[in-house]
Order: sequence, then structure tokens, then C-alpha cells
Amino acid sequence: MLNTLKNRFEQGCRTSAYPKTTIELPVRYRGRPQVHAEVSSELAAECAAACPQEAIEAERKMIDLGRCVFCGTCERLSEGLFVSFSQDFELAVAKKDHLLTGGELPSLAEHAKKHFKKLFGRSLQLRQVSAAGCNACEADLNVLATPFFDLARFGINFVASPRHADGIVVTGPVSRNMKTALLQTYEATPAPKVVIAVGSCALSGGPFRGSSEITEGLDCLLPVDLYIPGCPPHPLTNLHALLTYFK
Ligand code: SF4
Ligand code: SF4
Repeated sequence: MLNTLKNRFEQGCRTSAYPKTTIELPVRYRGRPQVHAEVSSELAAECAAACPQEAIEAERKMIDLGRCVFCGTCERLSEGLFVSFSQDFELAVAKKDHLLTGGELPSLAEHAKKHFKKLFGRSLQLRQVSAAGCNACEADLNVLATPFFDLARFGINFVASPRHADGIVVTGPVSRNMKTALLQTYEATPAPKVVIAVGSCALSGGPFRGSSEITEGLDCLLPVDLYIPGCPPHPLTNLHALLTYFK
């Protein structure tokens, strides 16, 4: 017992001070892409042709963050001249159109639904639905419950039953086999409710785009309130999105 108390005293508080203080992510982290529109059309077209997700619009020199899996191919190919990735992890948007970017993203706070803050600002219970995700998006949501992120201190929890939830958080490309379960979970969640799409798969089908076994974007099935890009989104991207949109 004394050893346990000693250990607790020595370790101190391990919970991150975010969002009160900023957090620096490792330099290898790929956050919001910066698109340098002054490069030649040929280089932009070369990057677009090499993008495995067809996420680059060469003509307009824009990237669709709903499709991008942050593989870094465009940055490597253009040696950072066309695309370079910043450390900015604040990537979530409230409208699908906002995912197509030339580098900047609209303020999420400004596009948040005001009545959601009133309804869920003090307490938000979410049911997670893995609709055929690879488990990386799910793991990075799960980690929010650990002492470092301590999501519960903000009044946000993941619950076991949709009956106890204010909304659903969907990961994965929504395979044919998961579609009914997802729709039933949505129906079982009492209104008013929120729908959050997490990860490239849920936003656009991700690496599975083009397969007849999946749905190319959760918004084809349900009214999505919050889109969180990434493959998987960093836990801080998820945390920032939840706090900005609901708090
Ligand atoms: S980082 Fe995104 S935009 Fe660039 S090549 Fe990879 S998927 Fe395409
Ligand atoms: S978006 Fe990427 S990490 Fe998330 S479920 Fe799909 S493949 Fe996995």
C-alpha cells in the first residue's frame, strides 16, 4: 500500500494539459497539408497521378482530405514544393465541402450547430460503431479514455448501448455486412442525436474506395454532423473536434 502511494506521488499527474496548453507533435507527424499553388501544373499533375486515393485535384491544386490517407507520396514526389505537411492536427470540419482544401480549413467552431452546444456541452455520451474499420481508427478513439487524454474530464464518454447515447461515432467504410447493424444502431439512438464520421474510410471509403462491398462515405446513409479526416486521425484530432464542436 505504501509503495503504491509512493509510486503515485512520484509519478504525479500524467494527464495532458491540452487544450489549456498547446501540444507539440513529433516532426514526422503529418497534419494539415499545405498546398503551394505556385508550382507548375505539370508537377501538380504528376502528384495527382501518383496519389493512391485520387485525392488531388491538379487543375485547382487542391486536396480532398476526405480521401487523403496522409501517405506522404505527394510530399516526397514534389520534395515539399507542391505539398508539405504541417504539424497542425486540427483537421475536423462540419461540412463535407470543406474537406476539399487548398491548405486552409474553415473554423470548425464557427460552423458548429449552436443548439448542440446547449444540448451536449455538459454531457455527451457516444456509441462507437466500427463498420468494418481496420481497428486503427478504433484504437485511436479508445486511447482517449486513457489517463493522458482523460476524455471523461470533459463530460464525454463512450457507452455500451445506443439507448444511452446522444450520438454515434462511425469508423470504417461501412461494409455491406455492417450496413444493417449501423442503421439499427442509429435508429436505436434517441433523438436529438449526432453522427460523427471518423477516418478516411467513413468519410469516403478510404483505401477501399471503388469496392462494391462498401459505402463510399457515411453521408450517403446518414446525416453526418462532424467529419474527422485521417487514416487514422490522431487522438488529438478527435479530441480537438469533439471539444470545439460540442463545448
Ligand atoms: S498524402 Fe494524401 S494527397 Fe498526398 S499522395 Fe497520399 S493520399 Fe494522396
Ligand atoms: S481510415 Fe485508415 S485507419 Fe481508419 S479504419 Fe480506414 S484504413 Fe483503418
